[in-house]
Amino acid sequence: MTRWRLVLLENPSWGVAQLQAIHRRTRGRCTYCGIRLLWRLHGVRSEQGWEVDHWIPRADGGDNDPDNLWAACWACNRSKSDLTGGEYLTQRWENGLPVNATWIEDGELAIYLTLG
Ligand SMILES: [Zn+2]
Repeated sequence: MTRWRLVLLENPSWGVAQLQAIHRRTRGRCTYCGIRLLWRLHGVRSEQGWEVDHWIPRADGGDNDPDNLWAACWACNRSKSDLTGGEYLTQRWENGLPVNATWIEDGELAIYLTLG
């Protein structure tokens, strides 16, 4: 006879309003590579599918505070792994990969966000 165990997932289920705020903040693009993320593909593993990423990884004590939650495409979320958002962006930049940021000056990069 098979015995079953209920496992509580660590990921909370995000509310629609919270997801919309996260998606809108980066103008519907991946925070890291800038690819356009289709709203309806949240949680769907595909090129334009996306997930909620923790800028500071949960493994490093990152929490579910809104400031720590960012939209990321599947590929970025997988390769980011336990890096912080800043470390992952830096790694992409140094490897010549696309980054969702604009060069400003004096070695500064900025990601433009939609406020409100
Ligand atoms: Zn990406």
